[in-house]
Amino acid sequence: MIQIPRGTQDILPGESYKWQVIEEKLREIAANYNYREIRTPVFEATELFVRGVGGSTDIVNKEMYTFEDKGGRSLTLRPEGTAPVVRSYIENKMQHDVNQPVKVFYKEPMFRYERKQKGRYRQFVQFGIEAIGVEDPLIDVEVLSMLMHIYQSFGLKNLKLYINSIGDHQSRKEYNDALVSHFEPRIDEFCADCQSRIDTNPMRILDCKKDRDHELIKTAPVIYNFLNEESKAYFETVKEKLTDIGIEYEVDYNLVRGLDYYTHTAFELMSDAEGFGAITTLCGGGRYNGLLELLDGPHETGIGFALSIERLLMALEAEGIELEQPDGIKLYICTMDDNSFDKAGTLLHELRTKGISADMDYKRRKLKAQMKDADRKRAEHVIVLGEDEINSGEVELKSMQDGESRTMNIDELKNYLED
Ligand code: ATP
Ligand code: MG
Repeated sequence: MIQIPRGTQDILPGESYKWQVIEEKLREIAANYNYREIRTPVFEATELFVRGVGGSTDIVNKEMYTFEDKGGRSLTLRPEGTAPVVRSYIENKMQHDVNQPVKVFYKEPMFRYERKQKGRYRQFVQFGIEAIGVEDPLIDVEVLSMLMHIYQSFGLKNLKLYINSIGDHQSRKEYNDALVSHFEPRIDEFCADCQSRIDTNPMRILDCKKDRDHELIKTAPVIYNFLNEESKAYFETVKEKLTDIGIEYEVDYNLVRGLDYYTHTAFELMSDAEGFGAITTLCGGGRYNGLLELLDGPHETGIGFALSIERLLMALEAEGIELEQPDGIKLYICTMDDNSFDKAGTLLHELRTKGISADMDYKRRKLKAQMKDADRKRAEHVIVLGEDEINSGEVELKSMQDGESRTMNIDELKNYLED
Protein backbone atom coordinates (compact mmCIF):
# COMPACT_ATOMS: atom_id res chain seq x y z
CA MET A 1 0.00 0.00 0.00
CA ILE A 2 1.35 3.41 -0.94
CA GLN A 3 1.43 5.71 2.04
CA ILE A 4 1.32 9.45 2.48
CA PRO A 5 4.81 11.03 2.47
CA ARG A 6 6.38 11.48 5.89
CA GLY A 7 5.61 14.80 7.54
CA THR A 8 2.54 15.53 5.44
CA GLN A 9 -1.12 15.09 6.28
CA ASP A 10 -4.47 14.63 4.61
CA ILE A 11 -7.07 17.08 5.76
CA LEU A 12 -10.14 14.90 5.65
CA PRO A 13 -13.69 16.09 4.88
CA GLY A 14 -14.68 15.89 8.54
CA GLU A 15 -11.82 18.22 9.53
CA SER A 16 -11.54 20.60 6.61
CA TYR A 17 -14.17 22.95 8.01
CA LYS A 18 -11.65 23.92 10.72
CA TRP A 19 -9.25 25.10 8.06
CA GLN A 20 -12.01 26.95 6.28
CA VAL A 21 -13.10 28.73 9.45
CA ILE A 22 -9.52 29.78 10.17
CA GLU A 23 -8.84 30.86 6.62
CA GLU A 24 -12.00 32.91 6.48
CA LYS A 25 -11.11 34.67 9.72
CA LEU A 26 -7.58 35.38 8.47
CA ARG A 27 -8.95 36.91 5.27
CA GLU A 28 -11.40 38.99 7.25
CA ILE A 29 -8.69 40.36 9.54
CA ALA A 30 -6.33 40.98 6.61
CA ALA A 31 -9.06 43.07 4.97
CA ASN A 32 -9.59 44.86 8.25
CA TYR A 33 -5.96 46.02 8.22
CA ASN A 34 -6.06 46.57 4.46
CA TYR A 35 -3.63 43.83 3.41
CA ARG A 36 -4.34 42.31 0.00
CA GLU A 37 -3.58 38.80 -1.13
CA ILE A 38 -0.52 37.87 -3.16
CA ARG A 39 0.04 34.42 -4.67
CA THR A 40 3.49 33.36 -5.78
CA PRO A 41 4.66 30.06 -7.34
CA VAL A 42 5.16 26.93 -5.31
CA PHE A 43 8.75 26.74 -6.57
CA GLU A 44 11.36 29.41 -7.14
CA ALA A 45 14.96 29.62 -8.27
CA THR A 46 17.08 28.02 -5.52
CA GLU A 47 19.30 31.08 -5.53
CA LEU A 48 16.42 33.21 -4.20
CA PHE A 49 16.41 31.34 -0.89
CA VAL A 50 20.17 30.86 -0.68
CA ARG A 51 20.63 34.60 -0.95
CA GLY A 52 17.38 35.84 0.56
CA VAL A 53 17.10 33.51 3.57
CA GLY A 54 20.81 33.12 4.07
CA GLY A 55 23.40 30.40 3.86
CA SER A 56 23.82 30.14 7.63
CA THR A 57 20.18 29.22 8.32
CA ASP A 58 18.75 25.76 8.98
CA ILE A 59 16.31 26.34 6.14
CA VAL A 60 19.02 26.69 3.53
CA ASN A 61 21.49 24.27 5.09
CA LYS A 62 19.24 21.36 5.86
CA GLU A 63 15.63 21.84 5.00
CA MET A 64 15.14 22.72 1.36
CA TYR A 65 13.49 20.51 -1.23
CA THR A 66 15.75 21.33 -4.13
CA PHE A 67 15.61 19.67 -7.53
CA GLU A 68 16.77 20.21 -11.06
CA ASP A 69 14.14 20.54 -13.77
CA LYS A 70 14.48 19.10 -17.26
CA GLY A 71 16.10 22.34 -18.41
CA GLY A 72 18.86 21.95 -15.85
CA ARG A 73 17.68 24.82 -13.59
CA SER A 74 17.96 24.43 -9.85
CA LEU A 75 14.55 25.01 -8.31
CA THR A 76 13.35 24.79 -4.70
CA LEU A 77 9.92 24.21 -3.23
CA ARG A 78 9.13 27.38 -1.32
CA PRO A 79 10.26 26.95 2.33
CA GLU A 80 9.06 30.41 3.44
CA GLY A 81 7.11 33.34 2.09
CA THR A 82 9.12 36.51 2.55
CA ALA A 83 11.81 35.97 -0.10
CA PRO A 84 9.23 35.13 -2.82
CA VAL A 85 7.11 38.18 -1.93
CA VAL A 86 10.17 40.41 -2.07
CA ARG A 87 11.21 38.82 -5.37
CA SER A 88 7.78 39.60 -6.76
CA TYR A 89 7.85 43.14 -5.34
CA ILE A 90 11.15 43.82 -7.08
CA GLU A 91 10.17 42.15 -10.34
CA ASN A 92 6.86 44.02 -10.52
CA LYS A 93 8.42 47.31 -9.43
CA MET A 94 5.94 47.72 -6.63
CA GLN A 95 7.92 50.63 -5.22
CA HIS A 96 6.00 52.65 -7.84
CA ASP A 97 2.61 51.34 -6.69
CA VAL A 98 0.29 54.15 -5.63
CA ASN A 99 -0.55 52.26 -2.45
CA GLN A 100 2.33 52.68 -0.04
CA PRO A 101 3.43 50.86 1.95
CA VAL A 102 2.67 47.81 -0.18
CA LYS A 103 0.71 45.61 2.23
CA VAL A 104 0.19 42.01 1.23
CA PHE A 105 -0.71 38.69 2.79
CA TYR A 106 -0.22 35.14 1.59
CA LYS A 107 -1.62 31.83 2.71
CA GLU A 108 0.24 29.04 1.06
CA PRO A 109 1.90 25.69 1.62
CA MET A 110 5.57 25.71 2.58
CA PHE A 111 7.98 22.81 2.32
CA ARG A 112 10.83 22.01 4.66
CA TYR A 113 12.68 18.78 5.13
CA GLU A 114 12.36 18.58 8.92
CA ARG A 115 12.50 15.80 11.48
CA LYS A 116 8.92 14.82 12.01
CA GLN A 117 7.55 15.71 15.43
CA LYS A 118 4.40 17.23 16.88
CA GLY A 119 3.80 20.61 15.29
CA ARG A 120 6.49 20.12 12.68
CA TYR A 121 5.53 19.09 9.19
CA ARG A 122 7.31 18.81 5.88
CA GLN A 123 4.41 20.50 4.16
CA PHE A 124 2.58 23.10 6.22
CA VAL A 125 0.48 26.16 5.50
CA GLN A 126 1.76 29.56 6.44
CA PHE A 127 -0.28 32.70 6.63
CA GLY A 128 2.00 35.70 6.50
CA ILE A 129 1.93 39.40 5.87
CA GLU A 130 4.49 41.87 4.57
CA ALA A 131 4.41 45.68 4.65
CA ILE A 132 7.08 47.04 2.35
CA GLY A 133 8.06 50.61 1.59
CA VAL A 134 7.77 52.52 4.86
CA GLU A 135 10.06 52.42 7.86
CA ASP A 136 8.17 53.78 10.81
CA PRO A 137 7.62 52.36 14.29
CA LEU A 138 3.90 52.74 13.73
CA ILE A 139 3.99 50.16 10.92
CA ASP A 140 5.79 47.74 13.24
CA VAL A 141 3.05 48.32 15.78
CA GLU A 142 0.35 47.74 13.15
CA VAL A 143 1.93 44.40 12.26
CA LEU A 144 2.14 43.36 15.91
CA SER A 145 -1.39 44.44 16.67
CA MET A 146 -2.70 42.51 13.69
CA LEU A 147 -0.82 39.44 14.89
CA MET A 148 -2.36 39.65 18.36
CA HIS A 149 -5.78 40.41 16.90
CA ILE A 150 -5.65 37.17 14.90
CA TYR A 151 -4.93 34.92 17.87
CA GLN A 152 -7.23 36.74 20.25
CA SER A 153 -10.10 36.62 17.78
CA PHE A 154 -10.19 32.84 18.21
CA GLY A 155 -10.47 33.26 21.97
CA LEU A 156 -6.90 32.17 22.74
CA LYS A 157 -5.67 33.39 26.10
CA ASN A 158 -2.32 31.75 26.82
CA LEU A 159 -0.32 33.99 24.55
CA LYS A 160 3.08 35.49 25.19
CA LEU A 161 4.54 38.04 22.85
CA TYR A 162 8.32 38.44 22.99
CA ILE A 163 10.01 41.29 21.23
CA ASN A 164 13.55 42.50 20.74
CA SER A 165 15.48 44.89 18.61
CA ILE A 166 18.51 43.68 16.77
CA GLY A 167 19.28 47.19 15.62
CA ASP A 168 20.52 48.38 12.28
CA HIS A 169 23.50 47.00 10.38
CA GLN A 170 26.00 49.16 12.23
CA SER A 171 24.74 48.12 15.69
CA ARG A 172 24.64 44.52 14.58
CA LYS A 173 28.19 44.55 13.37
CA GLU A 174 29.57 45.73 16.71
CA TYR A 175 27.41 43.25 18.54
CA ASN A 176 28.59 40.39 16.36
CA ASP A 177 32.20 41.28 17.13
CA ALA A 178 31.44 41.23 20.84
CA LEU A 179 29.77 37.83 20.52
CA VAL A 180 32.74 36.38 18.70
CA SER A 181 35.07 37.51 21.51
CA HIS A 182 32.66 36.06 24.06
CA PHE A 183 32.22 32.60 22.50
CA GLU A 184 35.50 32.07 20.67
CA PRO A 185 37.64 30.84 23.60
CA ARG A 186 35.17 28.05 24.45
CA ILE A 187 33.46 27.43 21.13
CA ASP A 188 34.57 23.79 21.14
CA GLU A 189 32.03 23.20 23.94
CA PHE A 190 29.24 24.03 21.50
CA CYS A 191 27.50 21.97 18.84
CA ALA A 192 28.88 21.66 15.31
CA ASP A 193 26.31 24.12 14.00
CA CYS A 194 27.36 26.78 16.49
CA GLN A 195 31.01 26.20 15.61
CA SER A 196 30.22 27.23 12.07
CA ARG A 197 27.77 29.95 13.14
CA ILE A 198 30.57 31.78 14.92
CA ASP A 199 32.06 32.47 11.49
CA THR A 200 28.87 32.95 9.47
CA ASN A 201 26.36 34.54 11.85
CA PRO A 202 27.38 34.56 15.54
CA MET A 203 24.00 35.94 16.67
CA ARG A 204 22.38 32.69 15.73
CA ILE A 205 24.29 30.90 18.49
CA LEU A 206 21.82 32.59 20.84
CA ASP A 207 19.00 30.88 18.92
CA CYS A 208 20.51 27.38 19.16
CA LYS A 209 18.14 24.76 20.47
CA LYS A 210 20.91 22.39 21.54
CA ASP A 211 23.10 24.82 23.45
CA ARG A 212 20.44 26.99 24.99
CA ASP A 213 21.44 26.03 28.56
CA HIS A 214 25.16 26.63 28.16
CA GLU A 215 26.41 29.17 30.74
CA LEU A 216 28.01 31.29 28.01
CA ILE A 217 24.58 31.80 26.45
CA LYS A 218 23.31 33.15 29.74
CA THR A 219 26.29 35.44 30.22
CA ALA A 220 26.46 36.60 26.60
CA PRO A 221 26.61 40.35 25.91
CA VAL A 222 23.17 41.92 25.54
CA ILE A 223 22.26 43.43 22.20
CA TYR A 224 20.49 46.39 23.72
CA ASN A 225 23.82 47.75 24.94
CA PHE A 226 25.12 47.79 21.38
CA LEU A 227 22.20 49.58 19.76
CA ASN A 228 23.11 52.99 18.44
CA GLU A 229 20.97 56.00 19.37
CA GLU A 230 18.73 55.70 16.33
CA SER A 231 18.07 52.02 16.83
CA LYS A 232 17.37 52.57 20.52
CA ALA A 233 14.93 55.37 19.77
CA TYR A 234 13.13 53.22 17.21
CA PHE A 235 12.76 50.36 19.69
CA GLU A 236 11.59 52.69 22.47
CA THR A 237 8.87 54.13 20.24
CA VAL A 238 7.64 50.68 19.23
CA LYS A 239 7.41 49.65 22.88
CA GLU A 240 5.66 52.85 23.94
CA LYS A 241 3.07 52.58 21.22
CA LEU A 242 2.40 48.93 22.00
CA THR A 243 1.79 49.91 25.60
CA ASP A 244 -0.48 52.77 24.46
CA ILE A 245 -2.80 50.37 22.66
CA GLY A 246 -2.73 47.80 25.43
CA ILE A 247 -0.61 45.09 23.84
CA GLU A 248 1.35 43.15 26.44
CA TYR A 249 4.84 41.97 25.59
CA GLU A 250 8.08 40.93 27.16
CA VAL A 251 11.51 41.95 25.92
CA ASP A 252 13.77 38.98 25.23
CA TYR A 253 17.31 40.10 24.40
CA ASN A 254 18.25 36.66 23.11
CA LEU A 255 15.49 36.66 20.50
CA VAL A 256 17.33 36.91 17.20
CA ARG A 257 15.17 34.79 14.87
CA GLY A 258 16.51 32.23 12.47
CA LEU A 259 16.71 34.29 9.32
CA ASP A 260 19.67 36.46 8.40
CA TYR A 261 17.92 39.51 7.05
CA TYR A 262 16.24 40.90 10.13
CA THR A 263 16.97 44.36 11.53
CA HIS A 264 15.36 46.39 14.32
CA THR A 265 12.11 44.84 15.56
CA ALA A 266 12.09 41.05 15.91
CA PHE A 267 9.30 39.14 17.62
CA GLU A 268 7.85 35.76 18.41
CA LEU A 269 4.50 34.74 19.73
CA MET A 270 4.50 31.73 22.03
CA SER A 271 1.76 29.74 23.68
CA ASP A 272 2.13 28.97 27.36
CA ALA A 273 -0.93 26.74 27.42
CA GLU A 274 -0.47 23.56 29.38
CA GLY A 275 -0.30 20.38 27.37
CA PHE A 276 1.17 22.09 24.37
CA GLY A 277 4.33 20.00 24.23
CA ALA A 278 7.85 21.05 23.38
CA ILE A 279 7.08 23.32 20.45
CA THR A 280 5.36 26.45 21.59
CA THR A 281 6.23 29.02 18.92
CA LEU A 282 3.12 30.10 17.08
CA CYS A 283 4.45 32.86 14.94
CA GLY A 284 7.62 34.74 14.19
CA GLY A 285 8.52 37.84 12.32
CA GLY A 286 10.39 41.07 12.18
CA ARG A 287 11.72 43.96 10.19
CA TYR A 288 14.02 43.27 7.29
CA ASN A 289 15.75 46.39 6.10
CA GLY A 290 18.35 45.34 3.62
CA LEU A 291 16.66 42.27 2.18
CA LEU A 292 15.45 44.11 -0.90
CA GLU A 293 18.91 45.39 -1.73
CA LEU A 294 20.37 41.97 -1.04
CA LEU A 295 18.09 40.70 -3.81
CA ASP A 296 19.15 43.50 -6.18
CA GLY A 297 16.01 45.53 -5.46
CA PRO A 298 15.47 49.17 -4.58
CA HIS A 299 16.40 50.71 -1.26
CA GLU A 300 13.12 49.90 0.48
CA THR A 301 12.46 48.38 3.88
CA GLY A 302 9.90 45.88 5.06
CA ILE A 303 8.39 44.07 8.00
CA GLY A 304 6.23 40.97 8.29
CA PHE A 305 5.35 37.82 10.14
CA ALA A 306 4.47 34.23 9.35
CA LEU A 307 2.39 31.75 11.28
CA SER A 308 1.39 28.23 10.49
CA ILE A 309 -2.20 27.11 10.57
CA GLU A 310 -1.06 23.73 11.92
CA ARG A 311 0.29 25.35 15.09
CA LEU A 312 -2.70 27.65 15.41
CA LEU A 313 -4.86 24.51 15.43
CA MET A 314 -2.59 23.01 18.10
CA ALA A 315 -3.03 26.11 20.24
CA LEU A 316 -6.81 25.93 19.88
CA GLU A 317 -6.74 22.30 20.90
CA ALA A 318 -4.47 23.00 23.86
CA GLU A 319 -6.92 25.64 25.13
CA GLY A 320 -9.96 23.49 24.40
CA ILE A 321 -11.42 25.92 21.87
CA GLU A 322 -13.78 24.38 19.34
CA LEU A 323 -14.41 25.98 15.99
CA GLU A 324 -17.96 26.20 14.86
CA GLN A 325 -19.02 23.67 12.27
CA PRO A 326 -20.67 25.14 9.21
CA ASP A 327 -24.33 24.48 8.49
CA GLY A 328 -25.36 21.07 7.23
CA ILE A 329 -27.78 20.67 4.33
CA LYS A 330 -31.22 22.26 4.05
CA LEU A 331 -33.13 19.15 3.07
CA TYR A 332 -32.74 15.40 3.17
CA ILE A 333 -35.10 13.31 1.06
CA CYS A 334 -35.97 9.85 2.33
CA THR A 335 -37.36 7.43 -0.24
CA MET A 336 -39.57 4.35 0.12
CA ASP A 337 -39.34 2.46 -3.19
CA ASP A 338 -37.90 2.52 -6.71
CA ASN A 339 -40.43 5.04 -7.96
CA SER A 340 -39.85 7.56 -5.19
CA PHE A 341 -36.10 6.98 -5.48
CA ASP A 342 -36.25 8.18 -9.11
CA LYS A 343 -38.53 11.11 -8.26
CA ALA A 344 -36.17 12.15 -5.47
CA GLY A 345 -33.37 12.38 -8.01
CA THR A 346 -35.39 14.82 -10.11
CA LEU A 347 -36.45 16.86 -7.09
CA LEU A 348 -32.86 17.09 -5.87
CA HIS A 349 -31.82 18.46 -9.23
CA GLU A 350 -34.50 21.17 -9.09
CA LEU A 351 -33.68 22.15 -5.52
CA ARG A 352 -29.95 22.33 -6.11
CA THR A 353 -30.29 24.46 -9.22
CA LYS A 354 -32.31 26.88 -7.06
CA GLY A 355 -29.35 27.01 -4.70
CA ILE A 356 -30.91 24.84 -1.99
CA SER A 357 -28.50 22.30 -0.52
CA ALA A 358 -30.09 18.88 -0.48
CA ASP A 359 -29.20 15.20 -0.50
CA MET A 360 -30.65 11.70 -0.35
CA ASP A 361 -29.55 8.13 0.30
CA TYR A 362 -28.20 6.54 -2.84
CA LYS A 363 -27.73 3.21 -1.14
CA ARG A 364 -31.51 2.62 -0.88
CA ARG A 365 -31.31 1.76 2.79
CA LYS A 366 -34.27 1.30 5.14
CA LEU A 367 -36.13 4.37 6.35
CA LYS A 368 -34.58 4.20 9.82
CA ALA A 369 -31.07 4.18 8.37
CA GLN A 370 -31.98 7.09 6.13
CA MET A 371 -33.18 9.14 9.11
CA LYS A 372 -29.89 8.43 10.85
CA ASP A 373 -28.04 9.52 7.74
CA ALA A 374 -30.05 12.77 7.65
CA ASP A 375 -29.01 13.42 11.22
CA ARG A 376 -25.37 12.72 10.46
CA LYS A 377 -25.51 15.09 7.50
CA ARG A 378 -27.02 17.68 9.84
CA ALA A 379 -30.03 18.23 7.63
CA GLU A 380 -32.31 21.06 8.70
CA HIS A 381 -35.40 19.38 7.26
CA VAL A 382 -36.45 15.95 6.11
CA ILE A 383 -39.22 14.75 3.82
CA VAL A 384 -40.28 11.18 3.18
CA LEU A 385 -41.22 10.49 -0.42
CA GLY A 386 -43.49 7.46 -0.98
CA GLU A 387 -46.36 6.39 -3.14
CA ASP A 388 -48.88 8.59 -1.28
CA GLU A 389 -46.77 11.71 -1.54
CA ILE A 390 -46.17 11.20 -5.22
CA ASN A 391 -49.87 10.64 -5.93
CA SER A 392 -51.07 13.60 -3.90
CA GLY A 393 -48.14 15.91 -4.71
CA GLU A 394 -47.98 16.82 -1.02
CA VAL A 395 -45.19 16.15 1.43
CA GLU A 396 -44.69 16.54 5.13
CA LEU A 397 -41.71 18.75 5.85
CA LYS A 398 -40.20 17.81 9.18
CA SER A 399 -37.85 20.18 10.98
CA MET A 400 -34.94 18.32 12.55
CA GLN A 401 -34.47 21.11 15.07
CA ASP A 402 -37.85 21.11 16.80
CA GLY A 403 -39.44 18.01 15.27
CA GLU A 404 -42.40 20.03 13.98
CA SER A 405 -44.02 19.04 10.71
CA ARG A 406 -46.03 20.95 8.16
CA THR A 407 -47.77 19.68 5.05
CA MET A 408 -47.23 21.48 1.76
CA ASN A 409 -47.18 20.71 -1.90
CA ILE A 410 -43.86 20.17 -3.61
CA ASP A 411 -43.75 23.53 -5.42
CA GLU A 412 -44.48 25.30 -2.17
CA LEU A 413 -41.64 23.34 -0.60
CA LYS A 414 -39.13 24.75 -3.07
CA ASN A 415 -40.15 28.33 -2.33
CA TYR A 416 -40.28 27.69 1.39
CA LEU A 417 -36.75 26.31 1.49
CA GLU A 418 -35.45 29.03 -0.78
CA ASP A 419 -36.35 31.65 1.83
P1 ATP B 1 11.02 26.72 14.59
O1 ATP B 1 11.95 27.38 15.54
O2 ATP B 1 9.81 26.14 15.23
O3 ATP B 1 11.72 25.77 13.64
P2 ATP B 1 11.21 28.68 12.53
O4 ATP B 1 12.08 29.73 13.09
O5 ATP B 1 11.77 27.69 11.59
O6 ATP B 1 10.44 27.90 13.69
P3 ATP B 1 9.75 30.49 10.85
O7 ATP B 1 10.58 30.20 9.68
O8 ATP B 1 9.86 31.79 11.52
O9 ATP B 1 9.90 29.33 11.92
O10 ATP B 1 8.23 30.24 10.48
C1 ATP B 1 7.17 30.95 11.09
C2 ATP B 1 6.19 30.03 11.75
O11 ATP B 1 5.86 28.94 10.91
C3 ATP B 1 6.69 29.37 13.01
O12 ATP B 1 6.56 30.22 14.11
C4 ATP B 1 5.78 28.19 13.12
O13 ATP B 1 4.51 28.57 13.63
C5 ATP B 1 5.57 27.81 11.70
N1 ATP B 1 6.40 26.68 11.28
C6 ATP B 1 7.72 26.69 10.99
N2 ATP B 1 8.14 25.48 10.62
C7 ATP B 1 7.05 24.66 10.67
C8 ATP B 1 6.81 23.28 10.38
N3 ATP B 1 7.80 22.50 9.95
N4 ATP B 1 5.57 22.79 10.55
C9 ATP B 1 4.56 23.58 10.97
N5 ATP B 1 4.72 24.88 11.25
C10 ATP B 1 5.94 25.43 11.11
MG1 MG C 1 12.58 25.78 11.77
